[in-house]
Amino acid sequence: MVSDFVKAILEELSKYKVESVHSVTLVIGKMTNLGGEQMEFAYEIITRGTILEGSALVIEEEDIILGCAACGYEGPARNLDFGQYSEEHAIPILSCPECGGPVTVLAGQTCSVKGIDIEEAV
Ligand SMILES: [Zn+2]
Repeated sequence: MVSDFVKAILEELSKYKVESVHSVTLVIGKMTNLGGEQMEFAYEIITRGTILEGSALVIEEEDIILGCAACGYEGPARNLDFGQYSEEHAIPILSCPECGGPVTVLAGQTCSVKGIDIEEAV
């Protein structure tokens, strides 16, 4: 997962004269269940010995947006409630919060590189 990103980023960077990389920004949808901390840890290990070594991995979370064809609802998913843990371990309910009907996931499944902040060689 992370290694695919790193491979793609390195490939992209090889087209430029890159002095160093400050940071890489990823957009990760909450639907993907990819833990930010885990990814940062993996990133640090995978990038060792590459131009990306020492750069920061910035993760932006994308909220889940559902769309319901039956009633026209469009908005965030309701989460299963685990009391005090529900914030960190939110599990979205994939049905319409308004009518309970089937929904389409409009956002939250993203997993992409948003930007790479580099220092170009002069
Ligand atoms: Zn609905």
